Amino acid sequence: MNVRGEVTDVGDVRSVSTQYGERDVLDVHVRPNEGSDDDVRPGDPEASVRVTLWGKWTETADYLDPGMELWVTDADEDEWNGETNYATSKQSYVVVEPDFLVDVTNIRSFVQCPRMYYLNKLSGLPLKYPVTKGTIVHEVFGDLLRGRSLDDAVAERVDDAGLELGLLGRDRDEVEADVRANAAAIEGWLKQGHFSSDGGTPDADLVGDAESDPAEDDWQAGDDWRSEYTLISETFGIKGRCDAIRRGMPVELKTGKNTNRDPRFHDKVQAACYALMLEDRGVDVDTGTLLYTKNAAVDRSEASGDLSPAKEFSISKGFLEFVVRERNHLAAIEARGDPPTGFEADAKCEYCFEQDTCMVVSGRLDQESKAGQLGTPIPGGERAYFRELYDAVEAERREVHDEYRKLWEQTPAERADDDRAVVDLEPAGREELPDGRWQLTATRPTAAASKIRQGDRVLASDGDPVKGTAEMARVETLSPDRVVVTADEPVDLRRLDVYPSELSVDRMLTALHDALLKGDERRKDVLFDRATPEFRDEDHAVIENNDAQNAAVNRSLNAEDFALVHGPPGTGKTYTIATLIREFVERGDRVLLAAFTNRAVDNALEALREQGYSDIVRVGTSNGIREDMQDLRLNQSGNPAECARALQTADVVAATTATCGSRVMREQEFDVVLVDEASQLTEPDTLAAINHGDRFVLVGDHEQLPPVVRSGGRLGTSLFERLVDTHPEAAVMLDQQYRMSQRIQAFSSESFYDGQLRPATGEVAGQTLADLGVETGGAVRDGVSFHDVPGTGDAHVDPAEAERVGDVVREYVDAGLDPADVGVIAPFRAQIAEIGRHVPEGVAVDTVDRFQGSSKEVIAVSFVATGSLDGPIFEDHRRVNVALTRAKKSLVLVGDERALRSEPLYDRMVDWATLG
Ligand code: SF4
Repeated sequence: MNVRGEVTDVGDVRSVSTQYGERDVLDVHVRPNEGSDDDVRPGDPEASVRVTLWGKWTETADYLDPGMELWVTDADEDEWNGETNYATSKQSYVVVEPDFLVDVTNIRSFVQCPRMYYLNKLSGLPLKYPVTKGTIVHEVFGDLLRGRSLDDAVAERVDDAGLELGLLGRDRDEVEADVRANAAAIEGWLKQGHFSSDGGTPDADLVGDAESDPAEDDWQAGDDWRSEYTLISETFGIKGRCDAIRRGMPVELKTGKNTNRDPRFHDKVQAACYALMLEDRGVDVDTGTLLYTKNAAVDRSEASGDLSPAKEFSISKGFLEFVVRERNHLAAIEARGDPPTGFEADAKCEYCFEQDTCMVVSGRLDQESKAGQLGTPIPGGERAYFRELYDAVEAERREVHDEYRKLWEQTPAERADDDRAVVDLEPAGREELPDGRWQLTATRPTAAASKIRQGDRVLASDGDPVKGTAEMARVETLSPDRVVVTADEPVDLRRLDVYPSELSVDRMLTALHDALLKGDERRKDVLFDRATPEFRDEDHAVIENNDAQNAAVNRSLNAEDFALVHGPPGTGKTYTIATLIREFVERGDRVLLAAFTNRAVDNALEALREQGYSDIVRVGTSNGIREDMQDLRLNQSGNPAECARALQTADVVAATTATCGSRVMREQEFDVVLVDEASQLTEPDTLAAINHGDRFVLVGDHEQLPPVVRSGGRLGTSLFERLVDTHPEAAVMLDQQYRMSQRIQAFSSESFYDGQLRPATGEVAGQTLADLGVETGGAVRDGVSFHDVPGTGDAHVDPAEAERVGDVVREYVDAGLDPADVGVIAPFRAQIAEIGRHVPEGVAVDTVDRFQGSSKEVIAVSFVATGSLDGPIFEDHRRVNVALTRAKKSLVLVGDERALRSEPLYDRMVDWATLG
């Protein structure tokens, strides 16, 4: 029987005499919710039931608070005095805050010390050789499991890590030898595993020769093996990727040595986490294996003890319960929001390799820590900022967890409707690739819209991504009738799911940590309003025909700290950025160009190239970078020294802000960092870029799309917006726009830019469809027009409105307009799909977010306005500003006039659009 719900009261632990002796008990009162079995839920939804926790589960009292959620599985039920109570049974697990998905690696570090878990969260994985080598060895392990030869695997994986190794000053041959020595343990153990069908611990004497080819030894990875297995447990609130599953049992690879007979305790904890997740899928797991690859590389004359790389251990129910309790403690600490002190557990600080870091972080943030504090605290305002932003990032993490939860809470149809899955695929072929991975093909029954795009990393599954077989895969092709993905294992391809990632929230925390604890003091003085930004008083005539652009370039070149360039739609931001970069480089500065999207980075590079500049290195994946910028892409594989030199010597390095937070980029330093789309970035995301430079320039428009955050709150305000408010003297607004006719720009200028925005030239102001050879008449009109289509009441799709949009757009095309010159903006994917059925081929139909930064000769906007003006386009007036400023010559608005007129801004908009 499952009892799940909000805790209303936590009693005291007491001891009672039982037939088994003295035992601890704890009474907890829970208000059962839908997660409970039906019989458990009382008629009154506010009523609570008593659940008695026995034995070690009573430790839960140390951290459980009213308001937290508790889940007790397999509870016993008993009646006493007419009241039904519940109690833990031998089979029970007690899970605190089950919706908080804890990563296995975090449970491992939490068991070492709760404060170490916190420190790891703040500082992220550094660029250090053991980390890079560990990644390579893990990849080689996967390759060997897929039957690849050791030589090929080592050569390719070391080659892939060329950039990191180069930045670490490592030589390829030396690394190959090191990896090979570690891989010998893996290969030897795999061979031994083949010879011994009972799965017994391999003997070190049987470890094979690292140079030999597995094929020659007749070794093949069979069906007993699965490499890199992605697991999520809804019961235990745990997720992670197991290195391998062998005959249903977890295998974890460690690139260290361990000459004890038993695996290390925290390594066992990690393997036990995977066992729990497998149990949640109905697999009975009783053994875990740890493979210490360095054992094979240890010289026998130098070490004593047990040198066998593989160490097995039995996984008891008691050990699994211990792991769940540790996970519970972590989840409860996160729910409370207080940083761990280290006193929660009994780790000894004097043996801790993080002791110095721990003391410094405690000292700087004035936090309590078992290790004590070192250094002077940062000012109170900074600490308050840290706390506020830290909490906001953690709130965002919970939103990401909600996305994970939808993997099992939503039906396949609901997920497809939500654009988060492509479902009902029919497997249509599989092909093994030369590197042992698989190319999987499936047919699609419909071309339904989804958020999944070519190049995305997704969860490919047999139809059930949580309880079935699922693999991380890369989408190679996504056409209306076909899907092709590549994956490590040959899944029966029936469904693709968007796989949420915590990477961006992890990087926000490290950016916050780097800015506040490692950042330059002067930088912090101006960021936290303790000093005003300073500017040199030099006059540069750089751009002659646009005063505002020239002023923006001057303000930026003269900035000793930072400058802000406010660029409304069509005002030549990209040209200004390119000019600015060229000017900085001419003055001897090394520049990092960053932007929220790959598209903005590549647009700026295109403009830079048009100005004749090309000493640029573009950092990113081949998939993310535009075709015509591929020649600038930094080759991250190959000769380490060459890869590193290319990055370290380029005058201009360009990357998205997400990439700026990577461990490779965290090591790079620049004179100036220029960030485009800065108003769409959260403060920590902006910090991830500007942490790399002495000075910075932010370019953006806080009257267009704000940062994309699910949790809202503090992260919804960009650093750009904050600094424009606090230091208007650092900002220059570009006020001449080169995009829209006078008639189209009027509403935006008036409503969002205090009437300051104006056409740059008479030609821009007076442009018409006739310039394109298109005759007006009927629905085809210059300027702005409005079509009233009474709403249907459906919040996501309006077929009548879609049909009207289709009719109008067809008139434009029939009048001679190229379909590629027309764009349609709609708020919902369902409406986008509906409109797609009505407009001629070649017309772009998409959301306002995807149109930001681009323009078309003609734009139609479908509002799908219901009475309450719900929907993403109405969430924020700035979204409407973006929608209304994409058109050059003709803007067509289609919506329910009555609904739109219910709010003052849209009432004025309809007035403007119907002026004639
Ligand atoms: S120094 Fe002490 S409190 Fe800090 S992480 Fe290490 S064991 Fe924990």
